[in-house]
Amino acid sequence: MTEARLWKSLKDGTVQCRLCNHYCVVRPGERGKCGVRANEDGVLYALNYGKIAALNLDPVEKKPLYHFQPGTRTFSFATMGCNLRCAFCQNWTLSQPPADDGRIEGRDATPQQLVDEAVHLGAASISYTYSEPTIFFELMQDTAKLAHARGLKNIMVSNGFMSRECLDALGPDIDAINVDLKSFSESFYKDTTGAHLKPVLDNLRHIKHTLKWWLEVTTLLIPGQNDSKEELDKLTDFLVGEIGPDTPWHISRFHPDYKMTDRGATRLDGLETAYAMGKSKGLKYVYIGNMPGANKQQTECPSCGALLIDRTGFSAGRTSIQNGKCAKCGEPIHGVDLG
Ligand code: SF4
Repeated sequence: MTEARLWKSLKDGTVQCRLCNHYCVVRPGERGKCGVRANEDGVLYALNYGKIAALNLDPVEKKPLYHFQPGTRTFSFATMGCNLRCAFCQNWTLSQPPADDGRIEGRDATPQQLVDEAVHLGAASISYTYSEPTIFFELMQDTAKLAHARGLKNIMVSNGFMSRECLDALGPDIDAINVDLKSFSESFYKDTTGAHLKPVLDNLRHIKHTLKWWLEVTTLLIPGQNDSKEELDKLTDFLVGEIGPDTPWHISRFHPDYKMTDRGATRLDGLETAYAMGKSKGLKYVYIGNMPGANKQQTECPSCGALLIDRTGFSAGRTSIQNGKCAKCGEPIHGVDLG
């Protein structure tokens, strides 16, 4: 077993995990809310270290990251587990078993083996994704350091509910992140995900303005849950005013899954309404994802409207960006290694 990082001893063998904003107090013989961190005789262990439950070579666009090394492949993996309990989880067979029944399955792999495989496959980066990378922090941190040494970038795809200590411990090891901003309502976060809104907002500010990782934000739009005009008004005001208009915002289509099967998939007109609101507020890069036919996946110059990156599905085609600027009018285009 691998000893966990970011925890402290309390009294009588009890410990507190400091990895995410739940700050679980874990008694001997028990596990934290995520089901992957266990207190054995007063020491906290990461039970999922090196237990790879999902692994693929993906287009970076699938994360989704549209402004970070477009057109490249990213070696993507996960262990089982999550610190949230979203009723609408679209990956619940991977994220929920450790908390549901204690199961932690996966094939053994070391950070060195993972990085070797990524290099062998020609990946430009490694993505910590699919479940919630916060809860496989130790494996991510070890792998990310090795990946940097081999010239690969590191990407997190996260719910953003990690602790400040977790973010700062990762620091320069991470280059880019996509954070799910699931709603702008504390009651939604509390009742539907088991988490809280404020820590996610604080983390978004910290990532953008202090850590300066490349940041893109995704919102899964659920009919009747988080798509009211009032809520989207607040969410887009926050993105523009506090995170910055240069932050790409991905609006993603919900489909019925896990414990939320009582409503249909998000309709195109709902996605388009959110898209129009984001654009009208001044967000420069807004995208609709997971919706064939929406035709809102292209990157256009926010100044002259020229088509800069033409995307079909998850593949990025022709780019008209030179030295980080629109080839037609010279407007700076935000992102990393855009061309
Ligand atoms: S990662 Fe979060 S949910 Fe898991 S034990 Fe630590 S504080 Fe609790």
